[in-house]
Amino acid sequence: MASFWHKSIAPLHNLLGKPQIDVRSLQTRLTAGVVLTSLVGVGAVTAWMGWRMQQIVLDSHRQRTALVADRLREDVQYYSTMMPPQEALDKVVEYRSTGDLAIWVEAEDGELMAQSEILTMGSWQAAGVSAALLSMPIVPGTEVMPVGDWRLVVCAEALDIAALPAATVYIADDITADYRGLQQLIRMLLLTSLGLISLLAIAFALYIRRALSPIRQLNRLAGQVTADTLDQPLSLATAPTELQELLRSYNLMLARLSKAWGQQKRLVNDISHELRTPLSLVQGYLESTLRRGQNLTPAQREGLEIAAAETSRTARLLSEILDLARLSNGQGVLNLEPVNLSDIVYEAVALATKTQPYPVGQVNVVDLASAVAKVDRQKLRTVLVELIDNALRYSDPQQPVQISLEQQAGWATVAIQDYGAGIPDHCQGDIFDPFYRVNEDRSRSSGGTGLGLTLVRSLVEAMGGQVSVQSQLNQGSVFTLRIPT
Ligand code: ADP
Repeated sequence: MASFWHKSIAPLHNLLGKPQIDVRSLQTRLTAGVVLTSLVGVGAVTAWMGWRMQQIVLDSHRQRTALVADRLREDVQYYSTMMPPQEALDKVVEYRSTGDLAIWVEAEDGELMAQSEILTMGSWQAAGVSAALLSMPIVPGTEVMPVGDWRLVVCAEALDIAALPAATVYIADDITADYRGLQQLIRMLLLTSLGLISLLAIAFALYIRRALSPIRQLNRLAGQVTADTLDQPLSLATAPTELQELLRSYNLMLARLSKAWGQQKRLVNDISHELRTPLSLVQGYLESTLRRGQNLTPAQREGLEIAAAETSRTARLLSEILDLARLSNGQGVLNLEPVNLSDIVYEAVALATKTQPYPVGQVNVVDLASAVAKVDRQKLRTVLVELIDNALRYSDPQQPVQISLEQQAGWATVAIQDYGAGIPDHCQGDIFDPFYRVNEDRSRSSGGTGLGLTLVRSLVEAMGGQVSVQSQLNQGSVFTLRIPT
């Protein structure tokens, strides 16, 4: 039931409930086009039908009045042979009049020669129609005239009868009831067409929405492509032919990108690998020269020390690049085993504090829960050393660094907190990107490579964990690792 609602009613709900309409969307444009076309089409048919119906009704009344006018002339001529012409006229006028048909005859000088009785009584007189008709100028012929809220077909024709003075016969046919019925019919026709157009609009909107859904699906699929999935072509069985062509081109582009990405990774890997050996040689040579160089001048010693420090930083950079390349190639296989995390915390603290070239603050281990997780012991130690190292480097020596380990609901949480430089809000989302540094100078002078946090995130995620940061400028930072236990 829920899925039925979702499939059939939800699009309608979205359609009607959406407060904003995107005028640039294909769906809106197609729907608007279809609705406009149906409005024009159905509107034109309705208008034509209304007009035709009106014509048919009016024509039948026109014919009726014209017919009565002709008969009246013949009847008067006939009865004039049997009685005085004026009496014959009165008789025929009365005989031909009905409840909705009034007749009157006027001489050329305007004198009323005869009139139907209904003109002098009943609703014709009460509504003031008789008075209005008798006083208004009426041209010869047949026309529809509004009198008050009545509608009349009025026919005026010359009455040439030898025994009578020249006169005009007027016949008024009351078509108010027919006219109102017709108006109501046209209103109903309009309402029905509007309802029909609304239904059509909804049906077309749903149909168009459905027809465009493969585009949305394709968009979703394309949005999920990452550097690691470049080699997996997208496929959408329900896509129409036009979209299949686009999909083919898109997949070709993905294949080219995947190839280029693979070449780039291999290149970085190879270069780092090739540079590592000669660099180790240089580093060894510099260190042994410094160890045995009792007769070096202070300037030579300083120069060699700077060269040794830079070589060591570059060696570290190469090793981090290699680690990252291996992780993204899938070559950096993790050796996962159940490990007591507090042991690794202690090992990392010992390592990080021992390797600092400058005086640094104290590292305090607080709140250490006992937690066992399946991790790569050595890699997790590298992660913790990197974070502790950063915390010490970006704090003054008198500011301590605190580490805690908690275990809760299937997750172990290691927090490394410092009270140092902190990270501005707008940089916090970028610090895990390769070579991103908040303060380039400070980072370089303290031996940073700019790849430490990138490696931390890659390693932690490879072990199924997460890493996040909370920081305030000049107040300090907390880096939090969450590892599934
Ligand atoms: P680096 O080798 O330059 O330290 P990282 O990837 O380890 O590179 O860190 C990226 C940037 O994040 C650093 O340059 C630094 O600006 C900032 N950063 C990392 N850790 C801290 C910290 N604990 N306190 C303040 N800034 C930090």
